[in-house]
Amino acid sequence: MKNNFWEVLTLEEMTRTQWESLCDNCGRCCLHKIEDEDTEEIYFTDVACQYLDVETCQCPHYEMRQSFVPDCLTIYPDWGKKFNWLPASCAYRLLSEGKPLFDWHPLISGNVDSVHLAGISVRGRTFSDEEVAAEDIYKHVITWVD
Ligand code: SF4
Ligand code: SF4
Repeated sequence: MKNNFWEVLTLEEMTRTQWESLCDNCGRCCLHKIEDEDTEEIYFTDVACQYLDVETCQCPHYEMRQSFVPDCLTIYPDWGKKFNWLPASCAYRLLSEGKPLFDWHPLISGNVDSVHLAGISVRGRTFSDEEVAAEDIYKHVITWVD
């Protein structure tokens, strides 16, 4: 029987608190991405936004983040194809695709560290975009995300 809110509600039906709790704080969406213009394929790099807290993998300026990074994304339930900009492990993308959350998701494990323990978060694996030149970013494409 389904009774967890993320199993019975659509993304549109969730409260703000429920919506925010879907974020597992993996930090993957704060990695710079490269898009192949021909195929529209997205490649993740290990270059993270300079504001990302690399220990907690959270944004210290979350509520004001667009003041720091104007093109920082805000995820919306009706994002459609744009969910592809999120990693395949992201709860928002998974639910938008009708897929279940993984066991390591803190909502299921009950442990906020499970995303780190499962090796999903970016903790300890990134460079700051302050230390990588824009023309070198293609050298930082990674395979451990998608
Ligand atoms: S990728 Fe998804 S789950 Fe991970 S930090 Fe970003 S919004 Fe949260
Ligand atoms: S401003 Fe915050 S949420 Fe946006 S990319 Fe940077 S660390 Fe991530």
